[in-house]
Amino acid sequence: MPYDVIIAGAGPAGLSTALFLLNARPDLAGRVLVLEKKAFPRDKTCAGALGGRGDSLLESIGVRVEVPSIPISGLRFTVPRGFSERTPGPIGRTIRRLEYDAALAAQARARGVLLVEGAPVCQIRVSRREVEVTAGEEVYGGRVLVGADGLGSFVRRWLGLSFAPLKARVVEMDTERTEGDPPPHVLHFDVSDRGLNGYAWDFPTPLDGEVRMSRGVYGLVFPGHDPPDVARLLDRRLESIGLDPGSHRKRQMLERGFEPHQPFAHGRVILVGEAAGVDPITGEGMAEAIQYGAVAGTYLAKKLVLGHPDFADWRTHLLRSPVGTDLFLRRWGAYLCFRYARRPAELLFARVPGVLDQAARLFAGGRPGRKEDYASALD
Ligand SMILES: Cc1cc2nc3c(=O)[nH]c(=O)nc-3n(C[C@H](O)[C@H](O)[C@H](O)COP(=O)(O)OP(=O)(O)OC[C@H]3O[C@@H](n4cnc5c(N)ncnc54)[C@H](O)[C@@H]3O)c2cc1C
Repeated sequence: MPYDVIIAGAGPAGLSTALFLLNARPDLAGRVLVLEKKAFPRDKTCAGALGGRGDSLLESIGVRVEVPSIPISGLRFTVPRGFSERTPGPIGRTIRRLEYDAALAAQARARGVLLVEGAPVCQIRVSRREVEVTAGEEVYGGRVLVGADGLGSFVRRWLGLSFAPLKARVVEMDTERTEGDPPPHVLHFDVSDRGLNGYAWDFPTPLDGEVRMSRGVYGLVFPGHDPPDVARLLDRRLESIGLDPGSHRKRQMLERGFEPHQPFAHGRVILVGEAAGVDPITGEGMAEAIQYGAVAGTYLAKKLVLGHPDFADWRTHLLRSPVGTDLFLRRWGAYLCFRYARRPAELLFARVPGVLDQAARLFAGGRPGRKEDYASALD
């Protein structure tokens, strides 16, 4: 078999899996194949807020993704009666996916990952000894397959796994900055609309050499509930800050929450990144995708030593890893924050500095904050 590992999807999850695998097993250079449906540079609808923990993990294996970025050092949290802000220092950055994913792909190639672009995986055959993956006109043979193909994952569907019932509707657009925006090093989450199971955001974004704003609305759809009209909510919000909704291009997508009870593997195939599920509280998925890659890469490195690798324990391994534990807690947190205990949760975030501080630390990956960096403007 020409390849040890075939990875479907060259987003941050697929590329990180390949990078961490090769870091643990440099002897596999040239034997890890990533098949990507599109051609780089390709865009991905995303607000581009990358938690510092994603960068730190990649840096731990010598990978630094140099692209235009805005350093982020704080969070603002708006509730119906005002806002709280926490600026503990560097906690991450915002990037553009068009540039970031292409730069990460270039780093992966430089380290011996074989990347085929314009190769949509459309058929999979798995036997006891190998996997056979058809992408476009070509058929590739390998020992194992990783499904890192994002939201509508073909690999996930092929495995016969249903998609997580907890989903979110999301709409995003880029606009100019306005006077009322927070400082350009702060991510703004606004949960003041209690009719929305989610939040609106205003994030600085590096576009065309300027600091502009990514604005959007994230609305969770609990099973059995009607989906929110996020596009209309965003329009209303833009009008309220003096922007013309019609003059900017809107992009609407779904996101799928992590469901810990679901299987994430079958035989010689595992799922990572958004194909497995992301944080349902915020819809954050980039740093998680890199975390998934770190866990999967080292897991595969060990499994490939075996003659007949079997991934029956991938779910347990994932759930015991930092990203699995974190997503498990966030899955229940989504129900608490937006369904069963919204007002107490709002109060906690708005009134108790330590809670916003902890959110910033989780985003950053554990850097402590200082009490004096906390600001509050509540009634
Ligand atoms: C509006 C919006 C805003 C967001 N904002 C943020 C944010 O600010 N911060 C954050 O952390 N996250 C954010 N997210 C979530 C984040 O974009 C995703 O969770 C993240 O990209 C997941 O990474 P991934 O590698 O798993 O999947 P993806 O980035 O989706 O990569 C999957 C790759 O697989 C490829 N592919 C798909 N099908 C096939 C196939 N059949 N064969 C081969 N290749 C295939 C795709 O082309 C793509 O390159 C946002 C999402 C949305 C919708």
